[in-house]
Amino acid sequence: MEYEAVIGLEIHVQLKTQTKMFCGCANQYGAEPNTNVCPICLGYPGALPVPNEEAIIQTIVAGRMLKCEIPDYCEFDRKNYFYPDMPKNYQTSQLHHTLCTGGEVTLYKYAFPKEVQEAAYASADKRIRLNHIHLEEDVAKSTHHEDHSRIDFNRAGTPLMEIVTEADLRSADEAYAFLKSLQQVLIYGNVSDADMDKGQMRCDVNISVRQKGTEAFGTKCEIKNMNTISGVRRAIQYEIPRQIDVVSSGREIRQHTRRWNDGLGETTFMRDKEDSHDYRYFACPDLQPFRTRPILFDTAGERIPELPSDKKSRFMQELDLSDYQAEILASDKRLADYFESALAATQESVSIANYLINDYLASEPDLDAPALPATHFAEVAELVKADAISSKQAKQVITEMLENGGQPKAIVEAKGLVQLSDEATLEPLCREAIHKNPRSVEDIKSGKTSAINSLKGYVMKQTRGKANPRKVDEILQKLLS
Ligand code: ADP
Ligand code: ZN
Ligand code: MG
Repeated sequence: MEYEAVIGLEIHVQLKTQTKMFCGCANQYGAEPNTNVCPICLGYPGALPVPNEEAIIQTIVAGRMLKCEIPDYCEFDRKNYFYPDMPKNYQTSQLHHTLCTGGEVTLYKYAFPKEVQEAAYASADKRIRLNHIHLEEDVAKSTHHEDHSRIDFNRAGTPLMEIVTEADLRSADEAYAFLKSLQQVLIYGNVSDADMDKGQMRCDVNISVRQKGTEAFGTKCEIKNMNTISGVRRAIQYEIPRQIDVVSSGREIRQHTRRWNDGLGETTFMRDKEDSHDYRYFACPDLQPFRTRPILFDTAGERIPELPSDKKSRFMQELDLSDYQAEILASDKRLADYFESALAATQESVSIANYLINDYLASEPDLDAPALPATHFAEVAELVKADAISSKQAKQVITEMLENGGQPKAIVEAKGLVQLSDEATLEPLCREAIHKNPRSVEDIKSGKTSAINSLKGYVMKQTRGKANPRKVDEILQKLLS
């Protein structure tokens, strides 16, 4: 019997606001513990919250980029439970009237893990539907030590966006590609840096298995608090065969929560469904319901940037890039910006795309802080265009530039990479080539056109590779006809 996995993700994303969700404390990572706190985020009795408009705007921008509906009427709800990391004994969240509903994320081919990109082509461009996005406040951060625990309230009350997918994912690789694609959209929209290492994006994985070809979902398990994308992939790779093993041997999966042990590479039991909370949600009486229309047509509307998919189309239509080139360059905002800043200094878009994809990316550059200005690549393209160097020499210049830095023109001079393009020098050499290779000339005349390569080879040898091959070809054709 064949089984398939059914996976849905719940992703928490920290927003890039100056201040917390309901108070004026700084929303800052890495500050001295318990310094960004006040009566509101510490949950003192009687303290009243004021919603952070910027967090609402950023959530709407994210929702628009992810093709969500933005209902006009929104509310904050109280989610009631007791836990030391949440001093109010409820978390202000949204349940009934969330900021965004529906939406989707497209899985890009190049978002899949490198080693499976070709095989994953079947899932590329697949759309994963979102259920909704809501806005809530984060809880404090606790760390557990041998005989005590510590708690830092700096994170308590910071704005947190939760993105909930439909259970449309079918494999570990799709979940990986989903998170990579989502990350790019969030970075593009400037709503989060979505850096999982810094806890800016965290993810719960809901997963079940069912017989292939059946409709109904199986019973799910939830793997909590994943904090790397590769961890999500490995946890799912572990969990699918585990569940298939249970189901195919006739046993039943009981709904429960699991945790991922990265060191051991396995998921383990955490708690039963019976232990799950009854949150007793109700609309927060301290916060007024609000309308999104004014925000949507004002600030948020202006901030919605060009989407990666629109950028890709523009690169293809206006800059003549291939589907492959456009997708790679548009899929990462940092790379797209780098590409476009090179184009400020040249119109050779296709050459630049080639240099960036074949040479620059292969050198595994730091995209956050590029060692070379993008205009260096423009300079190389211009040198080729002006016939000052050949495309082969351009490759040499780029290799040198990536390894040791330096200005393209200076490298060309230092390495003596001048290309001979002037007819006055090349024509006598071409005549000589014809004169010294009568057999090749015969071959060419009898229709074996590839024999011209030996004539070209002669000129290249005489010039120690510096002749412009296109020019040599042109002169030889002219002399032979
Ligand atoms: P819960 O009430 O347990 O929180 P939800 O219905 O809110 O469950 O769904 C939470 C996430 O789990 C969503 O991403 C949803 O798509 C996913 N999900 C729901 N049921 C299943 C299932 N049987 N198998 C896999 N994922 C599921
Ligand atoms: Zn505060
Ligand atoms: Mg739920």
